[in-house]
Amino acid sequence: METVYLNGQFIPRDQATISPDDRGFLFGDSIYEVTRWYGGYFLDLPAHAARLRRSLKETLIEWEDSGRFEEISEELISRNDLGGDCSIVYFQVTRGAAPRTHAFPKPAVKPTVYGYAKRHSIDTLACERGVGLWMVPDPRWNRCDIKSTALIANILPYQEAHDRGFAEVCFVRNGFVTEGAHSNIFFVRDGTLYTHPESNDILSGITRKIIVALAAEYEIPLTEEAVAVDMIPYMHEALISNTTGEIVPVVKISDQVIGNGVAGPVTRNLQQLFRNRVQAANPVR
Ligand code: PLP
Repeated sequence: METVYLNGQFIPRDQATISPDDRGFLFGDSIYEVTRWYGGYFLDLPAHAARLRRSLKETLIEWEDSGRFEEISEELISRNDLGGDCSIVYFQVTRGAAPRTHAFPKPAVKPTVYGYAKRHSIDTLACERGVGLWMVPDPRWNRCDIKSTALIANILPYQEAHDRGFAEVCFVRNGFVTEGAHSNIFFVRDGTLYTHPESNDILSGITRKIIVALAAEYEIPLTEEAVAVDMIPYMHEALISNTTGEIVPVVKISDQVIGNGVAGPVTRNLQQLFRNRVQAANPVR
């Protein structure tokens, strides 16, 4: 039986119950985090922990045990016998349960804290062959930097992309590419990487940060500059990045083929450097 974490306890999944008055359920008044376990160790767990704490701070959700995030994540892996498997840990903190009204509960209630771990391997076919993105206007709010569970504005365009046979969306705001529904987007032109700068318009991806650091370390030119939609036909490569998929080449955006329609050399190089980085993070090399 799968073990989950709920409000301070590790319990069987079928015993995990949450109030119908939970503000995560009623309002999406809640934040989350997703980390990857590489069959023995997490990649950049402190960066995920820092982002979780930032999301809590920005939403004024108080979880007094937030310092235990790393330890609980490890415990979820071990209690579910996932030590040797590629897995992810999902973690969510809501403002808690209280009669429905927009104002924060007064007196304050305890947050609802939920976490689970599950086996999840990388989609090697997508990493090899690349995927297509469906371009749509970015309908989201102006705090995309917060990892909020209120994701309907991501889900609706994503479903449209999915129904059309695309793997992800390419959000466009004011004529510039922001990011995907659950990934950051990079472009390559003449060997230089371009990606939207950190701002309220994108989530600061941990994988994005790793790519930016790898580019600096290996002297791959990178500019944190948003790409205009009308420049897409002139891009030689594109890729998306996230914790669950790592680095996936983009070979098409709506009807526009990118480069030669296959993963390009900069993307391939980054995939290899990322792989090396994952292996270097293994504490028992
Ligand atoms: N952008 C959005 C909107 C996301 O939801 C995600 C991840 O889920 C990312 C970017 C990539 O972030 P990370 O690399 O930390 O997984």
